[in-house]
Amino acid sequence: MKTLDQYLADAEQAHGHLCAGQVLGVRLAMLGLEKLGIEDPRGKDRKRLVTFVEIDRCATDAIAVVTGCRLGKRALKFRDWGKLAATFVDVESGKAVRIAARESSKALAREMHPEIESKNQQQMLAYREMSEQNLFDVQSVKVDLQPEDFPGFKGERIVCEKCGEGINFKREVRREGRILCRGCAGENYFTPA
Ligand SMILES: [Zn+2]
Ligand SMILES: [Zn+2]
Repeated sequence: MKTLDQYLADAEQAHGHLCAGQVLGVRLAMLGLEKLGIEDPRGKDRKRLVTFVEIDRCATDAIAVVTGCRLGKRALKFRDWGKLAATFVDVESGKAVRIAARESSKALAREMHPEIESKNQQQMLAYREMSEQNLFDVQSVKVDLQPEDFPGFKGERIVCEKCGEGINFKREVRREGRILCRGCAGENYFTPA
């Protein structure tokens, strides 16, 4: 594992700027790996880790940098809960840990550095200095990963009977004897313009 400063430099490059979210994300991910005993997430341990993120904000990019987990590798899973939290799963041991940023950390940052006016600057510094206990809640959890959720899953591709598009990873919906994609089954996030 790299140091906090090394990861922050990597995160800044990947994300485009350094911000409080990067500091939070890097520290959150470093703690998650430490709890699972994963030392080399981008090297020898790279097939051991699946990470669930619960928000699509700055910290998410930093978590991806530290863990090496990416959406396109199926090792990064997004649950749109709007919460600054992530769950790290060791697929070898089945151990998993969920880490959430504490709501009180913002107020504590204000107390620690009232002299800094910019909220982002204030939090950036305070989140570096703050103890893990003040920054995060850590919980051992169990994650029920289905075979089709593992990064290396190879399964058959099924065609939606309505739109004709292909569907991977058992994401089809069976309804009244028909095989449908989630869009055709009514889960659409768009309408034809
Ligand atoms: Zn940012
Ligand atoms: Zn369809």
